[in-house]
Amino acid sequence: MSTAQTQVKREHRRSREIFERAEQVLVGGVSSPVRAFRSVGGEPLVIERGSGQYLYDADGNELLDFVCSWGAIILGHANPAIAEAIADQARRGTSFGVTTELELELATLITRVIPFIEKIRFVSSGTEATMSAVRLARGITKRDFIVKFEGCYHGHADSFLSHAGSGLATLGIAECPGVPQALAGLTLNVPFNDLRAVEQVFSRHKDKIAAVIVEPVAANMGVVPPETGFLKGLQEITHRNGALLIVDEVITGFRLRNGSAQELLGVEGDLTTLGKIIGGGVPVAAYGGRAEWMNHVAPLGPVYQAGTLAGNPLAMRAGIAALKQLTKPDLYDEMTQMARRLVFGLRAELKDAGIPAHINAIGSLLTIFFAPRSVRNYADAKRSDTRRYARFFREMLNRGIFLAPSQFEAAFLSAAHTTADIDRTLAAAHGSLQAMTTEPAA
Ligand SMILES: *Cc1c(COP(=O)(O)O)cnc(C)c1O
Repeated sequence: MSTAQTQVKREHRRSREIFERAEQVLVGGVSSPVRAFRSVGGEPLVIERGSGQYLYDADGNELLDFVCSWGAIILGHANPAIAEAIADQARRGTSFGVTTELELELATLITRVIPFIEKIRFVSSGTEATMSAVRLARGITKRDFIVKFEGCYHGHADSFLSHAGSGLATLGIAECPGVPQALAGLTLNVPFNDLRAVEQVFSRHKDKIAAVIVEPVAANMGVVPPETGFLKGLQEITHRNGALLIVDEVITGFRLRNGSAQELLGVEGDLTTLGKIIGGGVPVAAYGGRAEWMNHVAPLGPVYQAGTLAGNPLAMRAGIAALKQLTKPDLYDEMTQMARRLVFGLRAELKDAGIPAHINAIGSLLTIFFAPRSVRNYADAKRSDTRRYARFFREMLNRGIFLAPSQFEAAFLSAAHTTADIDRTLAAAHGSLQAMTTEPAA
């Protein structure tokens, strides 16, 4: 099959026209930076609707979606049960400013499968969840420093914006202007998968570190799984030093199994943050943990945190409808099998094309690093050839496959993806890699 045959020439006149108008009033034409496709070039997408594993842009092009709203859409777009729940709740009222039984129901669905979350607080974004968890850890320990890992992303609160992954990695922003130096100085960065560095930072700042925050599987520098003993080691070091371990499961929660990744990886954080999947595609996030810690949050304790639309019924209904479907037997196994098929196929295609690359994968998460050697931390990830990734991204998009518009993000499968989709993706990868090795970059 020639590349010309597999390549679909996408028409994007209307998308371009909308995006150009958007650039006049929306900063960069977007509501979140990576959507502008700055690091991969090409035309940013303007999407009109989604259905299952597909997105449809403003010109009517169908795209096979491996972004899935950055992992939130684990059941595919416009999932019927979620859509019905949202529509039904919209007719009953969308926000009351007081407790509803729906919050109890979503909390129960979560705590039943993550038993070490005894109490939970709903917020509206992952950023709020991590920011609040750090405030709580500082409030409990009466200490100011926090430890995070280079290349991990915990949302855009001031304390997390140094050497962060996701859009900051994509745009090459190491330190963010606007974050007071006095605050940035309280965030200590260490390499992922490096327990010795964690020990060192604790001995250098004895009795001053409130918490370590970590993604149990790093997924915002591309996918980087934890090495054996890393997470368990963090738990041991934090406790020995009177600090708390915050496990940020905004991506991994309900992504690798029906529950936390922590259980899979043999670790238990003191505080856990959730987001993305638990909202069924509507803004919901949460933080929680043992009652002994969560009872420090207002109104039970003095650590203040609030939200006008937090726990609103529309969002709760979407989350409930999503989580109820995640109990389906084999759902996660099938996604993992599909991801394996994709990973093995891609490795073979990359090898055939003679292009150096390493694929990291776990469950339904994966990243193709165009890197000279395997990737176990942010320094390794940054060795990737981002121009090569950009070319691959554009070639795939031209063949109707939407991958993350950045080398430093994960590809996400959903339960809506099929074996036929994977095989189509591999055929597109074959054509894309062939084009990359035979035709000069456009
Ligand atoms: C997406 C993400 C966040 C931030 O969530 P938002 O809802 O975008 O604020 C925090 N932590 C991790 C691990 C994430 O992937």
